Amino acid sequence: MHLKDKRALVCGASKGLGYAAARSLLEEGARVVIAARTGDVLDKAADSLKEETGVRPIPVAADLTRSEDRERLVDLAQKELGGVDILVANAGGPPTGTFESFGQKHWQLAIELALGSVTHLTALVLPAMKEQRFGRITQIVSIAGLEVLDGLILSHASRPAVLGFAKALAREVAPFNVLVNSICPGIFLTDRIRDIAMQQADQRGITRDQFLKEFSGDIPVGRPGDPRELGDLAAFLSSPRNTYITGAAVTIDGGKTRRLY
Ligand code: NAP
Repeated sequence: MHLKDKRALVCGASKGLGYAAARSLLEEGARVVIAARTGDVLDKAADSLKEETGVRPIPVAADLTRSEDRERLVDLAQKELGGVDILVANAGGPPTGTFESFGQKHWQLAIELALGSVTHLTALVLPAMKEQRFGRITQIVSIAGLEVLDGLILSHASRPAVLGFAKALAREVAPFNVLVNSICPGIFLTDRIRDIAMQQADQRGITRDQFLKEFSGDIPVGRPGDPRELGDLAAFLSSPRNTYITGAAVTIDGGKTRRLY
């Protein structure tokens, strides 16, 4: 993918989809900084990425809901790597529940985590990307930005804004060879999905495995996704081999979504 020595900052990368994106980028020869809040889990992720790929990424603990952490993270990434060519903007999703189960704090946090983090991180990396005439910004969003799934109202209110941001930004920065894309995952077996499955199964009085089987029944490919499949997509969209995809919201969901556009 022509990623050798490209410099990547991958957020929310101590586990799940962010970890998978970091692994694919490392396998393709990129130099990578990984970020998440919990330092010891992040350090272990860096060790395990070294075991899997032969290269240890640089871990930086940061909470993406805090603007001072975002500034420190990008500053450190730029210093450690000598610049940032690729931003994979990703973090945890908001909690599940109905409208009346959430208060103002939940709404503010959901918007800050989804939209505040990606707009601020982008503002921090973009000037250098424009100047060097190369940049790839890849956001991990959700099919919940495209269609409604019960219990994900915080996602439905925040994700479309993130998709709109990327689409508009892509037009502004394309002349500088900065390409901006969103990935919309369906169901991938990560800690987040296991937690959601556990909550929903409890509410319905069934087991987690029963819930997951039912949930996956609506996936034409017949199974949840493997995070590795998403990691490879993130690496491609973020690579110099991607020269013409920008402003796209790419679904990766085994065919689950039914929308035409
Ligand atoms: P995950 O397994 O829970 O991993 C989330 C990662 O983000 C962890 O490394 C976590 O580490 C980090 N993180 C969470 N909050 C953070 C914060 N405030 N600041 C910095 N890092 C933070 O989640 P995932 O399944 O990989 O999902 C990643 C994204 O894709 C989420 O937005 C999720 O909603 C979306 N998504 C996932 C699926 C799926 O099937 N898995 C489907 C659709 C959309 P710390 O907790 O230590 O910070």
